[in-house]
Amino acid sequence: MKTTSEIRRDFLDFFREKGHTVVPSAPLVPGNDPTLLFTNSGMVQFKDVFLGAEKRSYVRAADVQRCLRAGGKHNDLDSVGYTARHHTFFEMLGNWSFGDYFKKEAIAWAWELLTEVWRLPKERLLVTVYHTDDEAFDLWHKVIGLPVDRIVRIGDNKGAPYASDNFWQMADTGPCGPCTEIFYDHGDHIAGGPPGSPDEDGDRFIEIWNLVFMQFDRQADGSLQPLPAPCVDTGMGLERLTAVLQHVHSNYEIDLFQTLIKKAAELSGTADLENKSLRVIADHIRACSFLIVDGVLPSNEGRGYVLRRIIRRALRHGWMLGVREPFFHKLVRTLDATMGEAYPELTAKRELVERALKAEEERFAETLDSGMRIFEDVAARNAAGKAIPGADAFRLYDTYGFPVDLTADMARERGLTVDMAGFDAAMAQQRETARAAGKFGGGTQLPAELVAQLQPTQFLGYDGLTAGGLEVVA
Ligand code: ATP
Ligand code: MG
Ligand code: MG
Ligand code: MG
Repeated sequence: MKTTSEIRRDFLDFFREKGHTVVPSAPLVPGNDPTLLFTNSGMVQFKDVFLGAEKRSYVRAADVQRCLRAGGKHNDLDSVGYTARHHTFFEMLGNWSFGDYFKKEAIAWAWELLTEVWRLPKERLLVTVYHTDDEAFDLWHKVIGLPVDRIVRIGDNKGAPYASDNFWQMADTGPCGPCTEIFYDHGDHIAGGPPGSPDEDGDRFIEIWNLVFMQFDRQADGSLQPLPAPCVDTGMGLERLTAVLQHVHSNYEIDLFQTLIKKAAELSGTADLENKSLRVIADHIRACSFLIVDGVLPSNEGRGYVLRRIIRRALRHGWMLGVREPFFHKLVRTLDATMGEAYPELTAKRELVERALKAEEERFAETLDSGMRIFEDVAARNAAGKAIPGADAFRLYDTYGFPVDLTADMARERGLTVDMAGFDAAMAQQRETARAAGKFGGGTQLPAELVAQLQPTQFLGYDGLTAGGLEVVA
């Protein structure tokens, strides 16, 4: 059976042979787009190439891009631990055509790689196309030979009842076009319907690969002009693909995650490897370590606060497993052993990552235990279905360092919610009081020497920082 590392390599080898230049992953902090919180797909580093503002020496590229979807426009943080297929940090395999090949080759190569190189059973695969994209439909049906009942036409989800959306656009204007997505059917013992059905959000039919055909340039008036040189942008989740190739259903069952989960189980003395907390911790150690590798440190604002929130969520899960000592940073060595070969920057910064995480663990340890007890009291006072008062959530935030999304996540496990409006009001009131008293709070409190070793991250914009109704505090 192929390991995650071998699959990563297979992908690059395949596209290298098809004339693609293999390029390295860009950092999680986008260098070319101050309005974007994190790199959330492979195309981010090529944005200017698609816009025509930047020229590269090649017209075909392939890469494995580290991605984070835990803030900004894409936020899968609340799905982690609940679905078989979502992570905060994941690796996206991608191949690209910059005005070179188009739909015919992109579809044919995707099919060749999946069914000939990796020998996936064809009858388990189904695809979606954009509802008006007859060209893609015909390629799948006539050239590839896929039966019509396994090609689903999907619209853009404006006003549509389901979540699927097969029209991609970079922004309100600019490059855009239809997608075709490839799904794998994990079998009828798993709940969930095919794409385009009311229960498409289940984990039975899992989307593995998205092929985007940039063929239009949307004008300010909304009209679509054909692009002079159409482009291809594809993204395939390495962990989802590996699950399929390793004959397991959940991403957390693949070799890479099992290594992390076993280490977390050992550190926490947990016997059940399917424990949800272990899965969350294994997900979060990747996100947190790579954020630090890419220059982010825990803080009370912007990207640093996203990092702090993810670390504290992981630490709370450790606490649930009975851990009362710093443990999270001890997973970095295992992570490095599994991913360092593909990401030498992780190996280079391993010690720094360990120290930054340990410092944050020690800081949160001072209040985690008491905060948990406060939460238990508050939760016990509220019956299922009720909202935890904003004032309580604020006290947990302000005195015990519980980011409000952490409290909301704990509440969710009890069938409770958090009164977010009440929380925001308590926050606003405290800010007013602080302003009146002439105090300024926040900022990084890590050892200055640690901070100095990292390049400062520039954060100039707020791309939907209020995702999920959570305000990121400054
Ligand atoms: P889904 O509908 O399952 O949430 P998506 O449509 O949001 O996926 P894309 O934006 O099309 O995903 O990203 C391209 C590919 O990256 C997906 O086909 C999937 O394989 C993978 N992917 C997307 N989000 C995640 C995630 N949170 N964790 C792991 N893999 C992901
Ligand atoms: Mg998604
Ligand atoms: Mg999707
Ligand atoms: Mg998709």
